[in-house]
Amino acid sequence: MIEVDLAIVGAGPAGLSTALFLAAAAPSLRTRTVVLEGARFPRDKVCAGAIGARADAALARIGVKVEVPSAHVRGIAVTTSAGRRSFWVDEPAGRVVRRIEFDAELARLARARGIRIEEGAWVRSIDHQNGRLVISIEGGERLKAKALVGADGIRSVVRRALGLGRGDVVAQVAELDTTSAPGDTPEGVLHFDLRDRSLRGYAWDFPTPLGGRIEVCRGVYAVREANDAKDAGALAKERIPTGARVLGPTKRLAERGFVVGAPVSAPGAILVGEAAGIDPVLGEGIAQAILGGEVAARYLAPRLASGEIGFADWAGALAATSVGRDLARRTACMPYVYGSGRDLLERYVVTNGAIARAGLRYFGGTLSRERLLDTIRARGLRW
Ligand SMILES: Cc1cc2nc3c(=O)[nH]c(=O)nc-3n(C[C@H](O)[C@H](O)[C@H](O)COP(=O)(O)OP(=O)(O)OC[C@H]3O[C@@H](n4cnc5c(N)ncnc54)[C@H](O)[C@@H]3O)c2cc1C
Repeated sequence: MIEVDLAIVGAGPAGLSTALFLAAAAPSLRTRTVVLEGARFPRDKVCAGAIGARADAALARIGVKVEVPSAHVRGIAVTTSAGRRSFWVDEPAGRVVRRIEFDAELARLARARGIRIEEGAWVRSIDHQNGRLVISIEGGERLKAKALVGADGIRSVVRRALGLGRGDVVAQVAELDTTSAPGDTPEGVLHFDLRDRSLRGYAWDFPTPLGGRIEVCRGVYAVREANDAKDAGALAKERIPTGARVLGPTKRLAERGFVVGAPVSAPGAILVGEAAGIDPVLGEGIAQAILGGEVAARYLAPRLASGEIGFADWAGALAATSVGRDLARRTACMPYVYGSGRDLLERYVVTNGAIARAGLRYFGGTLSRERLLDTIRARGLRW
């Protein structure tokens, strides 16, 4: 049985970022780490692919640049029952990528740095044996690890093996690609449609780089209520505008929202990215996965060196970081955004360009969280 110091389950943005940042922080760990990925690259991930430039900037700090076809983002449009308003910023705020391309390129860059990624390695179960974790892989192979990172996304086997349940906030999300149509926002704009007030969520139209052209990815994000009968897939199809040609199937997947105080570790194992939980308000998860990977690497490096792998303080360590505070803030404002404050918030966002632009700059990483909050408070909103 192969034995490693660290096994990372999942080679999405969270797992690959954890491995990349760890290799940068503690190069000697590289040969004692393995990333286990069930699928084979290039593999797709149901996702609209909007990445805030703050995530690209984080990767750039360790010299990683993911060069794939991208639709660059410079604006945001918000439609409410009062109409549509568009807001622009001067600097690039982010980009929209195809995950089939982005994740494969990130994996290639990780391999080029000597990171070992085993593809076709679906983890099926995890057991404790003599102070080690024994990871069983489909096909019968087993692997021993001192420590484990669960970066295996929404269907996380690691999360289940740790007995942490599915999470209390789960959204239903569906998307499809079409050509653009009259009435679409201009290229470079992320459009959020808030008109359906029966949703705890929103609909979107994002530019997407597909087949050498910029097409439109349209979708619906709906946080599930108990007895929720709405089908995000049906809602996404209903939104296809006249004149748009559908370019592929409707794809559905759940998303797991971060829950403040919920456990995200067990002895020897931590959860990162969507396995732990992402932004429950908008369902933004790529930047959270990449920035979460950076935090996880910083947390793991000294602990793996010293052998202190109880990891009981992982939730606290994450909470103390910028990405952790951001997740907690978004979680806390859920009832307000999709409840009592929705009217007020919509009115402010649509009538006041400062808040929308500040949000976009925060997404892009050119405005700090503190400055974003200042901008919101200065307009009389409590946050
Ligand atoms: C429809 C939709 C649209 C979205 N749009 C956006 C968006 O525009 N912007 C944004 O920021 N976020 C978006 N998200 C969220 C985003 O896709 C995720 O939050 C993000 O991919 C999380 O990254 P991750 O690395 O944690 O997990 P994932 O990207 O899910 O990666 C997990 C990896 O683990 C592997 N894996 C899973 N189980 C096992 C196993 N048992 N053994 C081995 N490997 C395993 C998977 O194959 C996968 O490669 C969207 C989500 C959906 C569903």
